Amino acid sequence: MRKKMVAGNWKMHGNLVDNKQLLDAVIAELNGLGEDLVAVCVPYLYLPSVQSQLQNTKIALGAQNVSQYEKGAYTGEISASMLSDFQCQYVIVGHSERRMLFGEDNHVVAEKYVAAQNAGITPILCVGETMEQREAKITEQVIEQQLMSVINLAGIETLNKAVVAYEPVWAIGTGKTASPEQAQDVHAFIREGIAKQNLNVANQLTVLYGGSVKGNNASELFAMPDIDGGLIGGASLIANDFIAICRALRH
Ligand code: PEP
Repeated sequence: MRKKMVAGNWKMHGNLVDNKQLLDAVIAELNGLGEDLVAVCVPYLYLPSVQSQLQNTKIALGAQNVSQYEKGAYTGEISASMLSDFQCQYVIVGHSERRMLFGEDNHVVAEKYVAAQNAGITPILCVGETMEQREAKITEQVIEQQLMSVINLAGIETLNKAVVAYEPVWAIGTGKTASPEQAQDVHAFIREGIAKQNLNVANQLTVLYGGSVKGNNASELFAMPDIDGGLIGGASLIANDFIAICRALRH
């Protein structure tokens, strides 16, 4: 049985007071959400305070980035073992904002994926096409390259300890959501591609959809057969929206 999951990506938002308020509300509503996984991926600086707030809850802690290097003279970087020190269970790698704004290519993303797993952290590997690529009808090619660079470096079986998030770049933070059918087509492509290499891995892999998911569109997206939940940006900062999205996993 595939695990369902909703992960919030706070991006570079929040402060100590707002974070506490947001999580108080989320914890109060979501702590008994059965087997589903809920995680919040927070800015590095807030890992310790969020870690202590999430203690004795079922909500998992995640980060939004990690260095590909283990340690050394890499000013400003944070290693996977440092994330482990704060019981970080998940880390987003390959988010399109990191790919586009910070020049992370497929190889760097693959190295970050490996670094996370070496420290026992589950990478949430983001893949997705731009609007130009979709219009040029190369969505599948782009996603295959993004996935294969990880599989070639790390091996297909490492996907047993990873989550994949399909995030069409044109849908992130734009208010434009992929239709459930558009998203399902790509999710099925991802799962079928992996199944050709290892059926067991494909059958158990959690594949999230991300891109302007809100309380009012989550249910129809999550109802699609290959969509196992969501990676949520903007709406994860609004307690009621995030709670509604997490609840949509159950419907
Ligand atoms: C994201 O940042 O991963 C994301 C999906 O953002 P949003 O939900 O705001 O589109």
